[in-house]
Amino acid sequence: MKIVETIAALRSTLKNVQHIAFVPTMGNLHAGHLALVEKAKKKSDFVVVSIFVNPLQFLPSEDFNQYPRSMEADCKLLRSLDVDLVFAPDEKNLFPVQQEILLQLPAVADTLEGIFRPRFFQGVATIVLKFFNIIQPDIAIFGKKDYQQLHIIRLMVQQLNFPIKILDTEIIRAADGLALSSRNQYLNGPERQEACHLYQALNTIVGETASGQRDFLLLEKKAVEYLSGRGWQVDYISIVNRQTLLPACTDDQQLAVLAAARIGTTRLIDNVEFTC
Ligand code: AMP
Repeated sequence: MKIVETIAALRSTLKNVQHIAFVPTMGNLHAGHLALVEKAKKKSDFVVVSIFVNPLQFLPSEDFNQYPRSMEADCKLLRSLDVDLVFAPDEKNLFPVQQEILLQLPAVADTLEGIFRPRFFQGVATIVLKFFNIIQPDIAIFGKKDYQQLHIIRLMVQQLNFPIKILDTEIIRAADGLALSSRNQYLNGPERQEACHLYQALNTIVGETASGQRDFLLLEKKAVEYLSGRGWQVDYISIVNRQTLLPACTDDQQLAVLAAARIGTTRLIDNVEFTC
């Protein structure tokens, strides 16, 4: 496994490589990331994983400096999966000048996560676009854990004509249902025990719709009350149409419920897809 830190080294390594599958990450890898890598391995003979904590997607008030970095352990894991190349660029190499050109995104980027993290998706889409240009993969793989991000990347690839196939993977969860995330390590003991209730709240919504409840606003409200009552600060719990991420209408069938909530100082996101 080769580890490269500059765009020049990456381009020279990839010069004669065809059929690249690309997995972008911010490192601190866990089984969720590894599921993406395993899918990449199945789909292509050359797998590139990027490890880069993207400053463009953090607000000044967010955890950019604190975000867990574990390059050595990450590379060990990726080596064990027989990844071909790790791209871990230095910030200066990727941004030799201030990144003034940023993607302008459609309105969906200003909903859900976008309400609470202004310009987050602009930062994500811009870095992914840079990586796509640098690596020129045939396939790129993203997790459904970041459901709205996946949606926006698909729109970007479609509307900017990237010849890249976007694949997704299901959310990998801990035994109690908590979606794996690098940020889970911010949770203290009691918070970690409580954290699975976010997933439980989403499953309750899915269960109630399966029993015929179609008042989505009521279901969202009850889920917010449930979590608030347990000490969570809920940013949103939204039942959406899977195709558009717009609020679900009663006759929509392909749905997802997306949520973001804070337990203690840790903000968690999760989602569940379901069919009505
Ligand atoms: P991150 O390192 O948080 O930027 O995540 C990199 C990629 O891994 C994104 O496509 C995420 O959606 C995906 N990912 C993160 N956590 C999980 C998980 N628990 N299950 C599946 N995919 C995940």
